[in-house]
Amino acid sequence: MKQHILISALILLSIAGFAWAENIPGLGFDYSSGSDSAAYKQGELIVRFADVEAFSQLSEGPLLMGPLTTHAVKGAISDFILTGSEVEKEYGEVSPGLAVVKLPAGTTVTEAFVRFNESANVLYAEPNYKYKLFGVPNDPMFSSLWGFDNTGQTGGTADADIDAPEAWDLETGDPRIIIAVADTGIDYKHPDLANNMWVNSAELRGTPDVDDDNNGYVDDIYGYDFAGNVASDPDDADSDPIDNHFHGTHIAGVIGAVGNNGNGVTGVCWNTSLMALKVFADDYRVEPEVFSSDAVEAIHYAIDNGARIINASWGGDHYSQSLYDAVKEAGEAGLLFVTAAGNDFGSDNDEIPVYPSGFDLDNVISVMASDPNDQRADFSNFGATTVDIAEPGTDILSTSPTTQNFAMLVFGVPTNYASLSGTSLSAPYASGACALIWSQYPDLANSTVKGILLKAVDPVFTSPRLNLSGGRINLHKVLTLVPQGKVGKVLNSKDDPADAANLYSTIQYAIDDANDGDVLIAEANSLFLEIIDFKGKAITLRSGDITNPDDPNISPVDTMILGVLEHQIITGFCIHLIIFL
Ligand code: CA
Ligand code: CA
Ligand code: CA
Repeated sequence: MKQHILISALILLSIAGFAWAENIPGLGFDYSSGSDSAAYKQGELIVRFADVEAFSQLSEGPLLMGPLTTHAVKGAISDFILTGSEVEKEYGEVSPGLAVVKLPAGTTVTEAFVRFNESANVLYAEPNYKYKLFGVPNDPMFSSLWGFDNTGQTGGTADADIDAPEAWDLETGDPRIIIAVADTGIDYKHPDLANNMWVNSAELRGTPDVDDDNNGYVDDIYGYDFAGNVASDPDDADSDPIDNHFHGTHIAGVIGAVGNNGNGVTGVCWNTSLMALKVFADDYRVEPEVFSSDAVEAIHYAIDNGARIINASWGGDHYSQSLYDAVKEAGEAGLLFVTAAGNDFGSDNDEIPVYPSGFDLDNVISVMASDPNDQRADFSNFGATTVDIAEPGTDILSTSPTTQNFAMLVFGVPTNYASLSGTSLSAPYASGACALIWSQYPDLANSTVKGILLKAVDPVFTSPRLNLSGGRINLHKVLTLVPQGKVGKVLNSKDDPADAANLYSTIQYAIDDANDGDVLIAEANSLFLEIIDFKGKAITLRSGDITNPDDPNISPVDTMILGVLEHQIITGFCIHLIIFL
């Protein structure tokens, strides 16, 4: 039986990039006026030092004496630039040379910004910018989960929803996929969240006040409180990521409230692992805010502790180079960074950027809010190139802390379950959707998962185009766009197919074992979902009958590869989503 050769890109997943923000240190910081002082933390600066690892003499003072630690070298440079400034914290594992520098009393951030950026020993210096939450508490009444399945129950349009019940027939999530919620913490004892919390079992079974798993963080059982050390509230100055607000708990519920437990609500993922990264301090005198430095550290923690997705439902006007570098690093480590587009009541992010939503990075998914009529929620920002997708964001019912706190009292948010609005609540729909894709196919690259998400929309925002995909997510399409099929095996044609030891479970394993000139047979009518790298070997890869590789009826012209050409490289090529027919 003759088939045809086709090597085609079935799903073109290249995401159009649009560079509207050059990576200029201090972009957006009008240091000539100093009028923007509310936008950043006083008394300190984020500084990325030039290569001080070599311990050699610097191109400009100070003279370095004796063997010095990188901390001491940075301290000497800081003191040389501005007498009395000290290195408060190093983030060298996140970005080489990155540190927070505490400024001497009486020095303004503006003055220090100019002096540090003038130094040849500094790559960039920037204020430690503040970002704010993108959730708007509104109607404290319960309403139904229209975003999952809209029957018009809230006066909206039937089927203006993400088709969740249809999707859940296919996939309900996998606890091996860890989603980090970088927010105000999570009420990890909530009965509708507890079973879906990420747990660091070494710390759970370990000794209090001891870093049992030696990961640099003491008692990080469900995550960590990165903002605690700087909070004015003494109750907050510990490692515990419990939510003393409500924002983070609500977002956690949208992603992963336990499904099908006869209790309360359900998240996009019925089963998942929620890692609580508390980056907002418990300070109710002002609206909670996150500083770049804490967000950067939390991102690094997520990378190191196995998260696949980081949900960041916050932002602001200021471009932070250190935050950009951390998000980029997360991308290179295979993570997706899902973030909210902002609630500036119809502001166009293409014109007025919002960060981190606006970072021009392949692993960032920027999410706007839609309403029950598939219109842009009136508070939501948009952006034809800088916002990727829309998700439900009005009157979203989800979990709230079981014990009332001051913030809940102020904002009228009830305990246990509450209804909130904001692009903050749209982002976790996307995070959950990505987790469902990875639950089905854990080996997909982050860029592929993002591509599937953007491809699988209902096109309700195309005229005018309000986001890059032109639509609102359809969870069922997301899961059906990932091809279903029998997982195939691979044989090297020179090997005996009768010996099971010669059959490989992935194409890559077969390539790894192959030599120049070998012909690899991928089982016909099967599905392979992987990124392959030929590693410079001259190998032929085709489909065929793995029980009879010499079948003369099967030749290279019988091979169909449906996939995504990620990029051509000199030593071979990489393909995502491979189906052999
Ligand atoms: Ca630890
Ligand atoms: Ca411990
Ligand atoms: Ca539930």
